Amino acid sequence: MSKQTVAFIGLGNMGGPMASNLIKAGFNVVCFDLQTSLTQPLVDEGATAAATAVEAVAGAHFVISMLPSGAIVESLYIHDTKLLDHIDKDCLVIDCSTVAPENSRALAVAATAKNIRVIDAPVSGGVAAAAAGTLAFMCGGTEDAVADAETVLGVMGANVFRAGDAGAGQVAKVCNNMLLAIHMTGTAEALQLGADNGLDPAVLSNIMLKSSGANWSLEKYNPYPGVMETTPASNDYKPGFMVKLMQKDLGLAMAAADASNSKTPMGEMANKLYGEYSNNDTCNLDFSSILKYYQQS
Ligand code: NAD
Repeated sequence: MSKQTVAFIGLGNMGGPMASNLIKAGFNVVCFDLQTSLTQPLVDEGATAAATAVEAVAGAHFVISMLPSGAIVESLYIHDTKLLDHIDKDCLVIDCSTVAPENSRALAVAATAKNIRVIDAPVSGGVAAAAAGTLAFMCGGTEDAVADAETVLGVMGANVFRAGDAGAGQVAKVCNNMLLAIHMTGTAEALQLGADNGLDPAVLSNIMLKSSGANWSLEKYNPYPGVMETTPASNDYKPGFMVKLMQKDLGLAMAAADASNSKTPMGEMANKLYGEYSNNDTCNLDFSSILKYYQQS
C-alpha cells in the first residue's frame, strides 16, 4: 500500500514535534505554517513544504491542524481560506487546536455540509509529550471518525479518548486545563511559601511528592527554577505552554461555565491570577512562570 499523505497545518511549539513523529512513522507529510522558517526542520526530516494551506491539503488522506485560536481555525477552514472547498471527500480532518466547543461545532456543521468528516482532538501533555509521542487526545466526533483518526493519533499520542460528539473533546480539554491552572498556581504558591520560610524548594518538593500535596505540576513540571533540570522553570521559563495560551484556555473555561451556569470559583481565581500576572513581558513565558507572581512584593 502506498504511503498515506498527511497535510499538517500549524508547526509551532506543538505542531512541529507532532508532525516530526508522523514523518518518523513513515507518513508522507506535507506541511504549512504562516512562519515559513518552521517548515525547514521538517523538510530536513523528509516532509514536503507547501506554499499555501490550499496546496498542502491537495490529495491528503488526513488534514491535521494545530493552531492558536478558534477564530483562526474558522477563518482557515470556513470563512477566508475556505479550506473545506479544497479537501477531498474521503479525507478526515482532525483539528487538534484548543478552541471553544462552538468553534468545533461550527467546523463540524460546515464540513458535514460538504460530506467531509471532521473531529476535534485537542491534546494534553505539552511540548515534551508532543516530542515523545505520548500526548493524550480528547476527541469529539462520530465513533467511526475517531476510530479512523487513531491511525495518525496513535503515532503522536499514547492515549486517544472519545469524549462524545463534535465539540465534546474541547469541553474535556477546557475542564482539564482549568484544573491544570488551579494546581499549577497552588503548587507555585506552596513552593514560594516554603521558600519564604527558609525551606529549600527541592527538599519541599520531595516532601510534598510523597505526601498528600502531590500533583502533576509538582511531579512533572515543577515551577521552581533548578528543582527539575528539564522543566521550563530551569530554562528561563522558555515555553512550553505560554501564559497567553493558558489565559485563552481559562477564558474558554469561564465561557463554558457561563453557558452552563456552573460554579467555578477556583477557576475564576486562577483566571484572575494569570490576568494580574500577564503583561507584554510575561505573556510569552511558560505558564509555570506564574511562580514569579508570588515573588512580587
Ligand atoms: P504556537 O503559537 O507555538 O503555534 C501555532 C502555529 O500556528 C504558529 O507557528 C503560527 O505561525 C501558526 N499559524 C497561525 N495561523 C496560521 C494559519 N492561518 N495557517 C497556518 N499556520 C498558522 O502554539 P502551540 O503552543 O503550538 O499551540 C497550538 C495549539 O495547541 C493551541 O491551540 C494551544 O492552546 C494548544 N496546546 C498547546 C500546548 C503547549 O504546551 N504548547 C499544550 C496543549 C495544547
